[in-house]
Amino acid sequence: MPYSLNEKIRDLKPYDPIEGNYQIRLDANESFLPVPGEIVEQFHAAVDQIAFQRYPDPLAGKAIEVFGHYYGVKSRLVTAGNGSDELIQVLMSAFLMKGDRVLTLSHDFSMYRFYTSIVEAECIEVPKNEDLTVNVDKVIETAHAQQAHMIIFSNPCNPTSLGLCREEVRRLISAVDALVVLDEAYMDFWDQSLLQEAEEYDNLIILRTCSKAFGMAAVRLGFAVANPVLTNAIRAVKSPYNVNTVTQAFGAAVLSQKELMDKAVITLLYAKKELFEGLCQLEEMFPNSMRLYQSCTNFVFVATPYAKEWHRFLLDNSVAVRYMGDYLRITAGSPQENETVVRLCREFLSGKGAD
Ligand code: PMP
Repeated sequence: MPYSLNEKIRDLKPYDPIEGNYQIRLDANESFLPVPGEIVEQFHAAVDQIAFQRYPDPLAGKAIEVFGHYYGVKSRLVTAGNGSDELIQVLMSAFLMKGDRVLTLSHDFSMYRFYTSIVEAECIEVPKNEDLTVNVDKVIETAHAQQAHMIIFSNPCNPTSLGLCREEVRRLISAVDALVVLDEAYMDFWDQSLLQEAEEYDNLIILRTCSKAFGMAAVRLGFAVANPVLTNAIRAVKSPYNVNTVTQAFGAAVLSQKELMDKAVITLLYAKKELFEGLCQLEEMFPNSMRLYQSCTNFVFVATPYAKEWHRFLLDNSVAVRYMGDYLRITAGSPQENETVVRLCREFLSGKGAD
């Protein structure tokens, strides 16, 4: 019998975020800012010290130390990953058994469902309210009814850009027996993190990434923060050399420059504000054609009956944003990029003449 792929991977396609080349890329929630020159220099000096013939430090000691300083958490509670994406996969493969139930929300980050399927766990999606806010009571109730083993969601949320306040997240974690994986990939843009209290819970793992606010998407660095028991388990199950030495050095350089990074976050938030305000004006002009959601992130989320055509129109004008069924997700870009995208959106909506 010829070899054949198993059922769980037979129909999978390699991840391909977008086909084609576009002048303006606002589809992946990256930072539009290059890493500051001072940090690049610091990194070059660190690279000169690397013993390339040696394996990396398995615990990424320096990187977790500076991460700890940056956020005021103990480094013994931190595990580094090859992007937070890798950590999601590690958590799912280690903390779940085949057939376990994982609760996530709808809409939320699509990779949760994907990794759940790879480990043959069952993914249950709790729908959000009509306005895309989270009904925490419903999540708690479903977690109990379904005997969920893990609850995973992003806060603030990708793609909705909405945030759930700290008090509500605490209430959720305390009310369930399941392991809660709280993905704070975009929390550098908001102020409701639970990082500093991660140690107090026996069922909480918080994920962070350097790919968004710190402009390090190319380098792949993420972190998991949890109490010592959970941290030991994560460190034990990850692959030993998951974060390469170059990434560790780059991460250490970036995270040791808090002032510069704080400045970068302010710039990114200002860019988001510009984009948001530009689109707000369009929402006032075309109230039947779009709805803009409040944003706690570096991107905005728009509901529209014209999502497909609108997306196509932007691509035809060399602007890539993310098309998601009845929605568009647009990352904040440079002032010029924001101006262009808002102008094109206005052009599209005027052309529709829908309102
Ligand atoms: N979580 C969320 C909510 C995300 O949006 C992303 C990136 N799109 C990730 C995790 C993964 O980030 P990375 O692997 O770059 O750290």
